[in-house]
Amino acid sequence: MKTNPSHPSRRTFLANSAKAGLTVGLLGTGISDLFGQESQPEFATGFTQQPLAYGYAALEPHIDARTMEIHYTKHAAAYSSNLRDAAKEESVDTTRPLEQVLASISKYSTKMRNNGGGHYNHELFWSILSPPQSEVGPEGPLLEALKTSFGSYEAFVSQFETAAKARFGSGWAWLLVDASGKLVVSSTPNQDNPLMDIAEVKGTPILGLDVWEHAYYLHYQNRRADYVTAFWKVVNWNAVTARYAAAKP
Ligand code: MN
Repeated sequence: MKTNPSHPSRRTFLANSAKAGLTVGLLGTGISDLFGQESQPEFATGFTQQPLAYGYAALEPHIDARTMEIHYTKHAAAYSSNLRDAAKEESVDTTRPLEQVLASISKYSTKMRNNGGGHYNHELFWSILSPPQSEVGPEGPLLEALKTSFGSYEAFVSQFETAAKARFGSGWAWLLVDASGKLVVSSTPNQDNPLMDIAEVKGTPILGLDVWEHAYYLHYQNRRADYVTAFWKVVNWNAVTARYAAAKP
């Protein structure tokens, strides 16, 4: 079964659904037919880079157009391409969700780990960004869960920023749902992520921040902290909320 042709419409549908405020229950329609009964079929990730739901300049001034274009068309595209090479070399069934490979990544090559993670992480990253809106933050069940897990939204932001700023070298900061349903902040090196069986902190990521220099250096140079602070201006909380609802055990 070929899955890729369905993905652009899924991306468009997700974007439109988020705008229209449709309920999460609708988002899975049809996708489970492609991937079978996965734990969160509506967010299953394929092996091909999907179109951005917004233009390269849409996140300015917080993330500049040139950074977005190079990041998407060069860095992320290379992870996707190299992932497909690795999948071919290691006889991975690419009609199955990439998440299945990541869950047992210790059984695969370093090439699979780096590029499978790289592809997954960027697909998630693009999906949780949106053009800057004024005074938008998490609401409803996600806000309540953040308060339960961290004490307050502000305490979560502080912990996440610390994870992003303190990651030495290249990597990611994450908000994830662990096996017990608790929200947790973590950080991974390189292109690792919390789905991997080798991760120190495991779970389903619902928000991620790329802190590789390629994600911010053109605009922010060495000022990673400014990039991390600006990130909140372009978070798509509807998308994060939908991922949270799907990830809860
Ligand atoms: Mn990146």
